[in-house]
Amino acid sequence: QGLSARNTNEILQLYSSPGQQQTLQRNAIVTQLHRAIQRLKQDLKNLHSFALELSKDFQHQCKTYLYQVLTVVQRIQLQNEAMQMFQLKAFDLQQSLQEVTERYEKEKHKRRALHNSLVELRGNIRVHCRIRPLLPFDTAAGHTVPQERQRNFSEKVAYAADDETILVKCNRPGHASINKTFQFERVYNASESQDTVFADVAPLLTSLLDGYNVCIMAYGQTGSGKTYTMLGPQLEKNPVFSTEDESELGIIPRATQEVFRLISEKPPGSYLVEVSVVEVYNNEIFDLLAKDSCGRVYGVKRDVVTTREGKSDVPLLTYETVENASEFLQLVNKGLQLRVRNPTLVHAHSSRSHLVVTLTITTIVSGDNFGISWEDELTSQKLNKEVSCTVPQKIRENKSTFSSRASSPASSETTEKLKQIKTKLQLVDLAGSECVGMSGVTGTALRETSFINRSLSALADVLAAIAEQRPHIPYRNSKLTHLLQDAVGGDAKLLVMLCISPHQKYLAESVQSLGFGTRARQVQRGQVKKKNLPVPSKAK
Ligand code: ADP
Ligand code: MG
Repeated sequence: QGLSARNTNEILQLYSSPGQQQTLQRNAIVTQLHRAIQRLKQDLKNLHSFALELSKDFQHQCKTYLYQVLTVVQRIQLQNEAMQMFQLKAFDLQQSLQEVTERYEKEKHKRRALHNSLVELRGNIRVHCRIRPLLPFDTAAGHTVPQERQRNFSEKVAYAADDETILVKCNRPGHASINKTFQFERVYNASESQDTVFADVAPLLTSLLDGYNVCIMAYGQTGSGKTYTMLGPQLEKNPVFSTEDESELGIIPRATQEVFRLISEKPPGSYLVEVSVVEVYNNEIFDLLAKDSCGRVYGVKRDVVTTREGKSDVPLLTYETVENASEFLQLVNKGLQLRVRNPTLVHAHSSRSHLVVTLTITTIVSGDNFGISWEDELTSQKLNKEVSCTVPQKIRENKSTFSSRASSPASSETTEKLKQIKTKLQLVDLAGSECVGMSGVTGTALRETSFINRSLSALADVLAAIAEQRPHIPYRNSKLTHLLQDAVGGDAKLLVMLCISPHQKYLAESVQSLGFGTRARQVQRGQVKKKNLPVPSKAK
């Protein structure tokens, strides 16, 4: 501090100048310097000891941190090892899960195959159930549904729990909510495509060419997707189904395509395909392919009778021969134009009639190819009419014989060398199964609805009678059941496609449909009979 008072030049001057005074001053400076040096030494000492302490402290802290880091590193290493173990375990679990899933899938397929065989043996009716997606008109305010049923407005109540189970949340006002489940051969959720639905139906068509009668019938309330499933989406105010978007086509056009595809794999000229389209409206049967003298299609009333062999038959029904799927689609479209429609309040374009499209396949078999079953049937049934039969090519040329005949399909006709075997594929789009109160209908529509209800309950009665093995099955209580007698009564592989609207406001109808499906599944009709086709290896 003393030194800092004077600058360096001043001190140098003092040292260089002689004299007593200056000596005194120099000494004073030396003393001052000495003191300053002492203080600096002391400061240095302090600083040194401080640095020492700091360094000790630092070392100590370093040690502590190092120890902590080491502990953490050790812990991380342990955790890494544990993680690796877990990863290994997870991998193992994943693998065994995959194995179990694969095994489960295999078992499921086996179980399905066994179930199918059981269904075949018992002659069970197969029931598939399709839940359609929620659609804008579900949530549109309507006066058709009683107030208390509209409360939980946007609620979806029907779900596919898995591919064989449908779960319905029954949350009626004033009641505790309960979940009901129903099991079917197959349950489709709302996102499952027409492709997927058809894939499950296709094997039945192979059966058709193998000599079985087949019937596929869509059941459900109006707006639940029956027509969509059977035909495809329909244009506004036009019953014609468009063929532009192939992926949207329903079972009927796809089944026809498949039948023609299967036929194309067989020897040419050995199959003949005929189509009939009928509608059951107000308990009357209308032939939708009948033509007037000018060749225009118009609906003609027909009757259904039971033949001596106990089969149902529609005399004078028009059968048109078709050679490919597009000819078939044109014909069906023509027929559909005539379909009686009346908008109910549930769905603006509801079909008020049952539509039955029948494909009759006549197989021409030469005598050499007859299987053992043919001989069996000749001796056991003695039903077959002896008809002189032309060779296949001639049959093709002579379409008129077929298109206006009145014989029952699925009958057999013989000559010395040739035999015709007829199998039929019936594709049925039933009218809506909703109750009258729900549709809010009056007048003509009420009459229609009550006929629909009666025919559908006649169908349920027939199924109940078969299930209980009653001696009398009341087929004749309704034209619908009389017409479908052969299919329902055991002479066909029958598939019921239940269609379900998932919305809360259709809960009662959905549960009713599911109940119908459940009862249908329980019907055991005995093994479905195969028509006497030749031994498969020879036919293919
Ligand atoms: P239904 O014949 O039972 O009265 P529709 O087949 O006419 O019912 O179906 C009613 C409406 O719902 C139609 O507009 C139809 O296109 C639509 N729809 C039905 N099922 C489906 C589905 N699975 N996916 C998409 N739309 C559907
Ligand atoms: Mg419909």
